Amino acid sequence: MDLSYGSEMEDFRDEVSSFVESNWPIKSVEGEEEISFERQASMFRERAIEKGYLYRSIPQKYGGSEQDADVIKAQIIREEFSRKWAPAEARGIGTMMLVPTLLEKGEEWQKDRFVRPTITGELTWCQGYSEPGSGSDLASLKTRGELQGDEWVINGQKIWTSGAHMADYMFCLVRTEPEASKHAGISYLLLDMKQPGIDVRPLRMMTGSSDFNEVFLNDARTPKDWIVGKRGEGWTVSRTTLKHERNSIGGAQQTRSALAGLVKLAQESELNGRPAIENAEIRQRLSVLEGYVKAHQYSGYRQLTQDAKGGDAGIINMMMKLFSTEIGHQVSGIAMDLLEEEGLLSAGNSELGSRSSSSQGWIAQYMYSLGIAIAGGTANVQRNVIAERGLGLPRDAAANRSPGK
Ligand SMILES: Cc1cc2nc3c(=O)[nH]c(=O)nc-3n(C[C@H](O)[C@H](O)[C@H](O)COP(=O)(O)OP(=O)(O)OC[C@H]3O[C@@H](n4cnc5c(N)ncnc54)[C@H](O)[C@@H]3O)c2cc1C
Repeated sequence: MDLSYGSEMEDFRDEVSSFVESNWPIKSVEGEEEISFERQASMFRERAIEKGYLYRSIPQKYGGSEQDADVIKAQIIREEFSRKWAPAEARGIGTMMLVPTLLEKGEEWQKDRFVRPTITGELTWCQGYSEPGSGSDLASLKTRGELQGDEWVINGQKIWTSGAHMADYMFCLVRTEPEASKHAGISYLLLDMKQPGIDVRPLRMMTGSSDFNEVFLNDARTPKDWIVGKRGEGWTVSRTTLKHERNSIGGAQQTRSALAGLVKLAQESELNGRPAIENAEIRQRLSVLEGYVKAHQYSGYRQLTQDAKGGDAGIINMMMKLFSTEIGHQVSGIAMDLLEEEGLLSAGNSELGSRSSSSQGWIAQYMYSLGIAIAGGTANVQRNVIAERGLGLPRDAAANRSPGK
C-alpha cells in the first residue's frame, strides 16, 4: 500500500508551502500602523484565491478561484495551511452549507446575489431546520409557508438555531404543501432575519454561552422566488446541505490535532507526583486512542482516494462524522481526568489556577463534544443509517419514523 501522494503532488506541496511561508503572517510595513489580524486574514485569503488555493470549486464570477476538481491538491492545501496556522476558507454555516447548496441547486440570480458576500463574511446565515418535536424525525416539521401573492408568509417555530441572533438571513425548511406526504410537502426558503415577523430568543447552554436560539415566525415574509429548488422539493435540497454539514464535522485532521493537544496535556500534568504521561493507565488509554485516530485518518485517505477516482467511498462517508465525534469525546474525557478537580469547574470560571486558559479550553471542549455528537444528526441516528443503508441490516423497529437527519 503506497500512501504517498507522488512526486508531482510533492512538488505542488513545496509550492503551496513556500507561498504560505512568504505570505503568512502578513508583515506590516515599517513605520506604518500594525495590520489587524482580521485584515491580515482577509488580505491573505485574497492572495490565496488569486493563486487558486481557496474556494476552488466556486466560479470566479462569484468570488472563488474556479479550479478543476482535484481532491489531492485540495488536501495538500488544507495540510500546508493548517501546518502554518494560515487562514483557510472562512468557516460558518453560510460558507460551509448554504454556498455549496446554492451552487448545486440554486437559480443563477441567487448565486449572483448571495455567494460572494457570504464567502467574504459580509452576509451571515443560520439554519432553520429543527423544530420542537422535529429533530431526528425532521420530515415531520410543522412550520407553514403559504404563498400569498408574491410572497411566502411563514408561521411556526424553529429551535436550536445556531447563530440566529447574529445572522442576516436564514435558510429554512417549511411545509408548503400540507396535503402532500411528509417528505413531499416541504420547501427550502431563504429568509431575511431583520423583519418584524421574526422573534429570536436565546437558549442558555451548559457552557454558559448562548449560541443557540428559539426562533418564532409570526407572519414572517419572503419573496416568492426566494425558494431554492422547486416548491415541494425542499427535502431533496436539504440533503445537499446536510451532506456538507456532516463532511465539515467529520474531518480526520481535527481528531489528529485534538490527540496531539491531549498528549501535550499529559506531558504537562502530574499524577501521583509524576508526569501523567509516565502513568501506565494513561499511556494505555492514549495508545488506544492513537489506534482510533489512525483508523479515522486511513478511512479519510480511503474516502479521498475514492473521490479522486470519481468513485464513492460508500459506507465510509456515513462513518466519518460518527468517528470524529466519538474520538473527540474520548479525547476530551481523558483531558477531564487529567485536570482532576479543575475539570469540575465550569468553563469561564475565574477561580481556575495557573493552567486556567488551557483548562478552560478543555472543559469547553468536553461540553462541546456532547453537543457536536447531536448536531447534524445524532450519533444513534448515524448508527442506524450505517446499519441500514451501509450494512443492509433490517430497519429499526421504529420503521415508520424517518431516519431523518
Ligand atoms: C451544537 C448543536 C447545534 C445545532 N445547530 C442547529 C442549527 O443551527 N439549526 C438546526 O436546525 N438545528 C440545529 N441543531 C439541532 C440538531 O439538528 C438536533 O438536535 C438533532 O437533529 C436531534 O434532534 P432533537 O434534538 O430533536 O433530538 P431527538 O430527535 O428528539 O432525539 C432524542 C434522542 O433520541 C434518539 N433517537 C431519535 N430517533 C432515534 C431513532 N430512530 N433511533 C435511535 N435513536 C433515536 C437520538 O439519538 C437522541 O439521543 C443543533 C444541535 C446541536 C447539539
